[in-house]
Amino acid sequence: MSTETTGRREFEFTLPVGYTDDEGIVHREVVLRKMTGREEAILADRKYQRNGGKLVTELLHNCIVRLGALTANGRGPVTTMTSADRNFLLLKLRSITFGSELEAAYACPACGERVQVAEDLDELPVHELPDGDDRGEIAIELEDGWVDREGQTHTALRLRLPTGADEEAVAPQMRENASVGKNALLSRCIISLGDVPAHRLEGMGPRIMSELTMSDRRLIDRGLNDGAPGVDLVRALECPSCGKQFSASLDMSNFLAMA
Ligand SMILES: [Zn+2]
Repeated sequence: MSTETTGRREFEFTLPVGYTDDEGIVHREVVLRKMTGREEAILADRKYQRNGGKLVTELLHNCIVRLGALTANGRGPVTTMTSADRNFLLLKLRSITFGSELEAAYACPACGERVQVAEDLDELPVHELPDGDDRGEIAIELEDGWVDREGQTHTALRLRLPTGADEEAVAPQMRENASVGKNALLSRCIISLGDVPAHRLEGMGPRIMSELTMSDRRLIDRGLNDGAPGVDLVRALECPSCGKQFSASLDMSNFLAMA
């Protein structure tokens, strides 16, 4: 686990969720190697800059030396892995390659002051999914719910955890409009919503998420942040200039490039 030993290139970590193979076996131990010039080229490649999901898949596929007891690792496991595990590995990749310290900047919501914080990526809390759990399904009770054509209101929402495949699929929409991208992502992850039949859910696609009230959408955000496994990126901050206490999410969009 230690990243202090100099001269080491490979490091072992335990995934917060774990990769479930075709036979249902869960693999949680991962050996990662430091990024090299090869990954620097991937980071600079325009093809990947257009699709953040594919970029992460490519980086992790390259740098995972071993995943559990699997003999070979194609892109498959990295694509079907949950975003929680992928983000965890991405943070570790940054940490073993450049060190765990990260200068992060947050904007104070009260006075607009730029708040600079030296974060330690290895100190971020990680919520691990207990062994034998239902693989991180998230249940959210909506307040306003979704009203179908017959006027019936559906409030019990069940989501599965987003995966690399979801990230790759919605990356183009995400680039255009983060809110539209999020609708596309979440609609892919709906397991059920009240008694709405599965074919109807599929037919509705992202529209179902865009028709929810903003307060329900906030409930979903909270459910995903609080209940979901993975690295907790929500930071509690205090503005040094006006004293306002606020919380903000650690921005991971460009952190790999910063040495
Ligand atoms: Zn302030």
